[in-house]
Amino acid sequence: MTPVLSVDNVKKRFGGIVAVDGLNLEVEPGEIVGLIGPNGAGKTTTLNLITGFLTPNEGRISLNGTEVTGDSPDSISKSGIGRTFQISKPFGRLSVYENLLVPNVSCGPTEQEARIDRLLQELHLEEVRENRADELSGGQKKLLELARVLMLEPDLILLDEPAAGINPALMDDIIDDIQRINEQGTAILVIEHDMSVISELCERVVVMNAGRNIASGTFEEIRGDETVCEAYLGGT
Ligand code: ATP
Repeated sequence: MTPVLSVDNVKKRFGGIVAVDGLNLEVEPGEIVGLIGPNGAGKTTTLNLITGFLTPNEGRISLNGTEVTGDSPDSISKSGIGRTFQISKPFGRLSVYENLLVPNVSCGPTEQEARIDRLLQELHLEEVRENRADELSGGQKKLLELARVLMLEPDLILLDEPAAGINPALMDDIIDDIQRINEQGTAILVIEHDMSVISELCERVVVMNAGRNIASGTFEEIRGDETVCEAYLGGT
């Protein structure tokens, strides 16, 4: 099977700092993969490389078997990768509904309306449909961002810390939503520091340290790995 994402020997330097140092990483269609590691391991830089916000110094990145290394964020988004950010920034003065009109969908207006209606229902945003986005809670803003990404029906979504700053009462909903999105056929790569979220969501976990992939396996497998415990999970 062709991986939906393939990161092959990728390096990124910032002056003298090697943030990503020969990284290899794959996501298969239908997988939920966790990307974990200590602060400064290179996780966010990796997302920026995959989504075209940064260009690697070496290596190649492919989506569904087609190389996209060095392509623009706009072109990569059109090739089927969606991304959410650690801090969601919807258009605050627009309503929730209007925010979902912004993505440049390739379908016609009837299908666009149907997608908006379905996503507002599925992501518990129907009641706040006409509210301004800056009136939403932190968790609702994350759900709106997820809905915005899903408007483009991506093959792969990169989630940057979906649990950060979320009211614990909303956490189970968000985990259920991510699982449902995955069951509908979207592969997911998720960065997260909350190990309970990683263990609940991810079939496979990749551990990064100092810009490299130092281990990969189920959460149970990597939790028992000595190198991983030394680098990151010592206290878990
Ligand atoms: P965290 O879990 O704290 O978000 P991370 O694993 O996402 O960390 P990165 O943010 O990718 O790590 O940072 C990797 C390394 O690259 C760090 O040493 C960081 O200081 C450095 N770095 C990241 N972006 C830049 C930049 N634009 N210019 C210079 N150095 C950078």
